[in-house]
Amino acid sequence: MSCLKREVAIPSATGSGGLDFNALEEMIPRAPAPTPREARNGGRVKLANVPPEGIYLPNNNRLAPHMRSPEYVQMSTAAAITLGLMSGKMHGCSCTRCLNLLLSYPEGCRANCAYCGLARHREAERDYADRNFIRVDWPAVPMSQIVEKVAADGDKTPFHRMCISMITHPNSDADTVTVLKQWTDRIDPAAVPVSILSNPTTMTREDVKTLHGLGADIFTVALDAATPAIFDRTRGKGVQSPHSWAKYWEILEDARDIFGDQKFGAHIIVGMGETEHDVLSLVQRLVDMGGHSHMFCFFPEKGSLMDHLPATPRDQWRRVQLARYLIDYRGVRVEQMQFDELGRVSDFAIPKAELDTIVDQGLAFRTSGCPGKFREDLSACDRPYGDSPPSNIASYPFQPAPADLRKIRSQLGMEKPGEAYVEGEEIEIERA
Ligand code: SF4
Repeated sequence: MSCLKREVAIPSATGSGGLDFNALEEMIPRAPAPTPREARNGGRVKLANVPPEGIYLPNNNRLAPHMRSPEYVQMSTAAAITLGLMSGKMHGCSCTRCLNLLLSYPEGCRANCAYCGLARHREAERDYADRNFIRVDWPAVPMSQIVEKVAADGDKTPFHRMCISMITHPNSDADTVTVLKQWTDRIDPAAVPVSILSNPTTMTREDVKTLHGLGADIFTVALDAATPAIFDRTRGKGVQSPHSWAKYWEILEDARDIFGDQKFGAHIIVGMGETEHDVLSLVQRLVDMGGHSHMFCFFPEKGSLMDHLPATPRDQWRRVQLARYLIDYRGVRVEQMQFDELGRVSDFAIPKAELDTIVDQGLAFRTSGCPGKFREDLSACDRPYGDSPPSNIASYPFQPAPADLRKIRSQLGMEKPGEAYVEGEEIEIERA
């Protein structure tokens, strides 16, 4: 079988220590500054107790009003633009297919994950409702208004899926139930299926059963870290955060038992110090359980404890994206692939012609997540520019055009003869 062998010395290396990947020794979170007492637990917002008036657009120059779930939720900028609640354009996309909702409290998330813009240490400098998360703002909107709008749109809704993202807060289990019920009372979950992005730390198996019984379609666990050591460093004891690898796996296994085959998955961030072999072994483990992996390319989120570290080099990211797609959807196994002495993929274990066809289809490089209505291997959750700027796209929220594919091939070291990528050519394209 002829396979693609990677050229090891890739000139576009921009990772930690000048490598073409982000190495474990370099990807160390910085320590948080102390939080003034009056700012802890949403102290400023609760003390001022300004009542909210309709939609709240993040504005770091004024005090956020006192909003909390289940009455209020936050939504991604892409969802707010799609619903017409915010003006703006997204490079290459006319809308998002996933209505991403986030529970919201003045106290914010009580965890302290090092890569996350919502982390607890940020209460020192920014109210919860004003914090950036996966590179964008999250406007706060009354849940009743969201349900009204989507129900009124009926069959014309652009959304293929809705997702409730829990955060680490004592009320988030109960409030997720309330938000889900409010949705399914008005919107048929067969028409717009619901995913739950869970918070295992506060959950029990019974909670997972309850959400399934109320009509949730897919249950996901944001493992985020690919190994127990990176988990502990970035979202456990290493940053005074309450999460544990064992508890996350307990709830993931509950989700497998309760939601069933193809109806559960795990988020993984690529480029926080794991090897490509580490992350792809995890992808294989999830597939063997009957689930899927949803991948994010590490990006140094502004204000996070990892904002001083380099984004994942595109060559590392592309190799992992391609290998993950082959494992998740094309039946290739990680044991068949070959890796070099630094754990980098050197052989994707399928014939070159087949690999070329898959690369040219572009699906492997699109945002990964829960599926929508187009096809099983295409995520509804397209998260436009959640893990990169549009000038250097990591996860494509649209179908890559030929110039994008030439760029992807150059990042993979797989350029076709006579079809070299010209720097910046994809930016010139007129997009939908
Ligand atoms: S639990 Fe989730 S929302 Fe909270 S800090 Fe960690 S990654 Fe961010």
